Amino acid sequence: MKKIVLFCVSAIYIANACAQSAKMDFEAYNPTSTLVVPEHKLSRSKFPFIDVHNHQFDMPTADLSRLIRDMDKLNMAVMVNLSGQNGNRLQQSVNNVKKNFPKRFIVFANVDFNKVGEAGWGEAAAKQLEEDVKNGANGLKVFKNLGFSVKDINGNRVPVDDPRLNPVWQKCAELKIPVLIHTADPKPFWDPVDEHNERWMEITSHPNRKRGPENPVPFETLIEEQHQLFKKNAKTTFIAAHFGWYPNNLGKLGQLLDELPNVVVEFGAVIAELGRQPKMAKLFFTKYQDRILFGKDSWVPEEYATYFRVLETEDEYFPYHKKYHAFWPMYGMGLPDAILKKIYYKNALRIVPNIDKTQFPD
Ligand SMILES: [Zn+2]
Repeated sequence: MKKIVLFCVSAIYIANACAQSAKMDFEAYNPTSTLVVPEHKLSRSKFPFIDVHNHQFDMPTADLSRLIRDMDKLNMAVMVNLSGQNGNRLQQSVNNVKKNFPKRFIVFANVDFNKVGEAGWGEAAAKQLEEDVKNGANGLKVFKNLGFSVKDINGNRVPVDDPRLNPVWQKCAELKIPVLIHTADPKPFWDPVDEHNERWMEITSHPNRKRGPENPVPFETLIEEQHQLFKKNAKTTFIAAHFGWYPNNLGKLGQLLDELPNVVVEFGAVIAELGRQPKMAKLFFTKYQDRILFGKDSWVPEEYATYFRVLETEDEYFPYHKKYHAFWPMYGMGLPDAILKKIYYKNALRIVPNIDKTQFPD
C-alpha cells in the first residue's frame, strides 16, 4: 500500500514538472481572449467602396455574376482588376465586363518587360499601352517583378527607375491614367530569420519569400529606386501599393507624401499594421485623407471584415485573419464618415478614370 501511494505521488510530481517545462509551439499557441469589450463585427462597409487592388486572372472567360454576388455582400461597388495583361487578353476582359457588368469592374493593363534593352522597346511598350487604353484599360499595374526579377536583354537586373522605361510613364501621364506599382516586400524578409523577426512565421512557411542583400539587392535599394521613379516622373500619378511598405512607419510615409504630390497610397495586405497603431493611423488618415485609397489584394471575401472593422469601429483587441501577417490583435481607428467616404470611393473616383459615379453618395 505504502509503495503504491509513493508511486502515485511521484507520478503527479513528474507530470507537473513536465507541464511546466513543456515548450509550446508558437504557431499552435492561440489563447482564447478573456477580454470582454463592445464588439462591432462588420460584414459589409458603411459606404459603397472601390477596391483598387484586386486580381482576377480568369476575367476574359469568368462568369462575373459569381463575383458580383460576393461584391454585393461586401458593399463593393467597383472592383479594379489589376491583372488585365495586354493586347487580346485585355480586350477579352474588357469585353466580358462591358457585356455583363459595365459599371462594376475597371481593368488595368500590364506592360511586358521582356526585351528591355532592345532598340525602341520603350516606344513600342508605350504604343501597346496606348492601344490597351483605347480598348478599355483605365490604368497600368506594375508588379514587383520589376526590381526583383526583370532582366534586360543582356541579363542585367532592370532597376525600377531605369530610364529605358520612361516612355511608358510618360504615356501614362499623357493618357491621364494612374500607375499602381508594387515594389519590394516587407523589410523583415531581408532580415535574419530568427526570434527577433516579426515575419518569422511567414518566411518559415513561405521560404521563397526570403530575400537578402544580393537577392537581388537590399530593401533600401529597391525602395529608393521606387522613390526616384516617382520624383523623375512628376507628371505621372502613382498609387504606391501596400503603403509603399512603410505602413509600420507612418511618419516616414507622411514625409514621402509631402515630398511627392504625384503619389497616393493604398493599404492592400497591410491593415494589420494600421490595426496595431490606431491612434497614429488615425492621425495619418486625417492628415492624408485625400491620398489614401482602399485596396485589399488577395480576393478572400471574408477577410474584408477586418478592413471594415479597423477603419470604421473603435473596437479593441480583436483578431486579425492571418497569423503569419500578424500575431497581434487589432484596434479600430473609428474614422468619421467624411474621411471614410474619401477612402472608400472619393479618392479613387478622382484618381482612376471612367468609374461610374452614380453608384456612390455625395
Ligand atoms: Zn497585388
